[in-house]
Amino acid sequence: RAKAAGRNTSETFDAGLRLEALRVLDLESDLRRSLARGDFEPYFQPIVALEDARTVAHEALLRWHHPVRGLLLPGSFLSVAQDSGLIEQIDWQVFEQAIAAIPRLCPDGGYVCINVSPRHLHSRAFVPRLQALLAKAGAEGRQLRVELTEGALLEGSESVHHSLAQLRGAGIIAQIDDFGTGYSALSYLHRFPIGALKIDRSFVADLDKDPAGSGRGAVVGAILAMARSLDLEVIAEGIESPGQREMLMKLGCQLGQGYFFGHPLPLPPGSVR
Ligand code: C2E
Ligand code: MG
Ligand code: MG
Ligand code: MG
Repeated sequence: RAKAAGRNTSETFDAGLRLEALRVLDLESDLRRSLARGDFEPYFQPIVALEDARTVAHEALLRWHHPVRGLLLPGSFLSVAQDSGLIEQIDWQVFEQAIAAIPRLCPDGGYVCINVSPRHLHSRAFVPRLQALLAKAGAEGRQLRVELTEGALLEGSESVHHSLAQLRGAGIIAQIDDFGTGYSALSYLHRFPIGALKIDRSFVADLDKDPAGSGRGAVVGAILAMARSLDLEVIAEGIESPGQREMLMKLGCQLGQGYFFGHPLPLPPGSVR
């Protein structure tokens, strides 16, 4: 009996694996087709000054207009796009549109943030290509920022250092995304030319919970103190309530983004593309 059950389990397991493999292959060929069709587009979410909610910047967020399944968020395809290597071309399709939108989105200064996969930092062509897109849009380096995760830096190779130096030379600020969720090996913050941190939304969510807890705000407070001492700008992610905004301001955070201020949205029609 045990033997039969065991065989059944492994057959189910094999069938599951086969299905998963087919699903990945399907998604991969859909990604390829959509690359050719131009189905990837940035949505833009405002980054605001917490004090008066004025928009100071925008984050470009990848969206996939799947020909059959409709609008898809990165969570449903990013891992396949990364594992297949297709993310590189997908990113460029998004970066091109995001950078072309700078003059329209930031008429009086401000900047657009793009999310950069780690693999781009290994390419010497990455920063020159961004600069070419900026020139084409008539925009400057300070109007663009790149968001990287801690993991991208910890790979720590020569080419990563080179790309970050190139970014700095181009006037493009690099900022750490989802700060606090990674390895938090803080030494990289002064080893690399980083200009800003984005506090992960899990810490922002905690600000509303456990109102009696003494630890409330402790992590965010510690990140802000550290950022001040390293002269880094801070942006809080995922602000959903007035209470979170209030608490962040009390802790000395000046910038933020989240559904409370605005959802990611496509550029309105009539945009320069
Ligand atoms: P991220 O860079 O940390 O982006 C923030 C995510 O939080 C976005 O999810 C955004 O829509 C969502 N968000 C914003 N405000 C709130 C809020 O108040 N509450 C909650 N619960 N969520 C909020 P999205 O657009 O699904 O993107 C997920 C991730 O995909 C991004 O996380 C980023 O790591 C990655 N990504 C986005 N665009 C690109 C891209 O162009 N290229 C690459 N390689 N990755 C991208
Ligand atoms: Mg981001
Ligand atoms: Mg983030
Ligand atoms: Mg994230």
